[in-house]
Amino acid sequence: MDAMVSGVHITEITPDKISASQTAADSRMAGDAPSSIQRTAGASPIRPRRLRRTPALRAMVRETQLAADDLIYPLFVVHGQGAERPIASMPGVAQLSAERAARAAAAAADLSIPAVLLFGIPAAKDPVGLENFAAGGIVQQAIAAIKRAVPEMMVITDVCLCEYTDHGHCGLLNQGASGQGNGARPHAHLEEGYMLNDETLAVLGEVALSHARAGADIVAPSGMIDGMVAALRATLDAHDFSHIPIMSYAVKYASGFYGPFRDAAEGAPKFGDRKTHQMDPANAREALREAALDVQEGADFLMVKPALAYLDVIHRLRTAYPEAPLAAYNVSGEYAMIKAAAAQGWLDERSVTLETLTGIKRAGADLIISYHALDVARWLRA
Ligand SMILES: [Zn+2]
Repeated sequence: MDAMVSGVHITEITPDKISASQTAADSRMAGDAPSSIQRTAGASPIRPRRLRRTPALRAMVRETQLAADDLIYPLFVVHGQGAERPIASMPGVAQLSAERAARAAAAAADLSIPAVLLFGIPAAKDPVGLENFAAGGIVQQAIAAIKRAVPEMMVITDVCLCEYTDHGHCGLLNQGASGQGNGARPHAHLEEGYMLNDETLAVLGEVALSHARAGADIVAPSGMIDGMVAALRATLDAHDFSHIPIMSYAVKYASGFYGPFRDAAEGAPKFGDRKTHQMDPANAREALREAALDVQEGADFLMVKPALAYLDVIHRLRTAYPEAPLAAYNVSGEYAMIKAAAAQGWLDERSVTLETLTGIKRAGADLIISYHALDVARWLRA
């Protein structure tokens, strides 16, 4: 300890030395020297530390309360019986068969988590992703299994094409009919392989409808396709599903934080990237434009994804749309970073995770989609 205070080593300061030097200083300033240490002249009467002294005081003035019913638990579902395939880059997360997913949903319900979000890994992939809207598709089976086991659980389904298409893109591509690049591409003025917008909307409508028929409570389009909310709303309404809310991935960035998710959902693009539809991480004003469109199109929830590097964007949406329920996706890379550091003993998983999710809520999110949901709900009870 070599810290110095006025030329004296901290370790040398003792109460009698303080009072001796205080007395000396006082007698230099005035004849009438007090015997104890006085409050420095001009110090503020407002002392924020007064409200931090005990745990009860801190609880009384806590501004942000994280709760289990803020959480949404994502699940990856696969075909088969008794399947539980761990994902190496996401310790504690596994691809689950439908009945295992139902068991995981029951565990979430026991912890007062109100909702799960389903991602499907199909048996086979093709250029369109036919299983995505098949009555017997994996997500459709998992919805039924979960609703049977835990009827009160809100089942949200991801509505996108990337896990189902053989090219791994979120929509139909400007390619020949086979999707393999042979034959004439539908739009001669657009480059080969460009992800088509309006053709994709029709497929997304079919996917959402299929999920609603299977019993989904909320559909969540995630592809950042222009007009996706309006397309889903129109299709659902036309088939007597006007009561099904849409949780729109309104602001989704082309982020490096999705790396582990792509292992989990097996939906990495086979070529190219997603920068022609997902947003540039540098843009925040554009996020307001995206959100405005989704609000106009009838989105019931807005979402920002990822969360941690975009807390300012969460805050901007919260401020611009105070009336809209706002979700934030605490994505796979955010989860994996904490898990990896905790495994090394470099960070305390519990405190860092709770701090992270509290920060996301403080920024303005009402709901947080997190792979840590079960742990967080347990920690909040402890
Ligand atoms: Zn996608």
